[in-house]
Amino acid sequence: MEPLVDGHGRRISDLRVSVTDRCNFRCQYCMPADGLPWLERSEVLSFEEIERVVRLMVGMGIEDVRLTGGEPLVRRDFPRLVSMLSPIEGLKDLSLTTNGYLLERDAAALVGAGISRVNVSIDSLQRDRFFQITRRDSLPQVLRGLEELAKHPEVHPIKVNAVAMRNFTEEEAIPFAEFARSTAFQVRFIEFMPLDADQNWTPDSVLTGEELRQIINSAYPIEELPREPSATARVFRFADGTGEIGFINPVSEPFCADCNRVRITAEGKLRTCLFSLHETDLREPLRSGASEAELEKIIRDAVWRKELKHHVGEPGFRQPPRTMSAIGG
Ligand code: SF4
Repeated sequence: MEPLVDGHGRRISDLRVSVTDRCNFRCQYCMPADGLPWLERSEVLSFEEIERVVRLMVGMGIEDVRLTGGEPLVRRDFPRLVSMLSPIEGLKDLSLTTNGYLLERDAAALVGAGISRVNVSIDSLQRDRFFQITRRDSLPQVLRGLEELAKHPEVHPIKVNAVAMRNFTEEEAIPFAEFARSTAFQVRFIEFMPLDADQNWTPDSVLTGEELRQIINSAYPIEELPREPSATARVFRFADGTGEIGFINPVSEPFCADCNRVRITAEGKLRTCLFSLHETDLREPLRSGASEAELEKIIRDAVWRKELKHHVGEPGFRQPPRTMSAIGG
């Protein structure tokens, strides 16, 4: 099939699939303390529907599929979905974003089913501060999950993602740098984005990648590595050669120009940008007998209208009504 391209000439090869809106954590920068009204089971795409859409889109040139949530590991029988997707011809990479809480239980099954890369979200390496952010006293459990996953060399790389927030992450910079230097895990900081349910985000609440880089560089000099096309992170190596650390700066240094990503939400909405204000429903056509050709047309038309870039920090920026937990990053 013709490769999937948007109206700005960008080739789309990366698909993020949210498999659930539910999560077992309550991270301050994402979800209210009491959680959110969850989707009904019938509203969420079935494994068979996800497989059908992924197979179709791989046929249109999608090479990388990342499974996200909410928290994907809370979806029952999740490794079975992985085993349905990993054999799809043309799929080059099947990865996962998780908060790690259920990783100790599921690591072996996920690897056996075909997961090749994993990002684990950890915002602090200090137990009390981890609790402060996630509203869960779960750091030891998450670190055990990370250790369990590290027993499987076929999963590589394993990245640890920390959301960077002003007046919090400054104290985490050096502990995470030392963690990156003393383990095989690649640590990356992600700037806080206006996708929080409480809508508390302000430009001042963003601790920029550049500020974090300076904190780390003053203790452990780092050098930038060449950027991969469509990469979201600026990756640096420690000058003395012990490990790497990355910065994902969507607010202070947007990387939209060569964006190759689209997303599907748990209930089957195609989002062409993390900050989309419009979505295209795939569930209704999936459930009302649309042919592959009809589905392909719906997807191509939506992707053609993909936004050129986000407008965070610009006058008139509107925060999407959908929160990060219901998009999946
Ligand atoms: S904000 Fe939108 S256009 Fe920019 S990199 Fe993210 S998904 Fe792509």
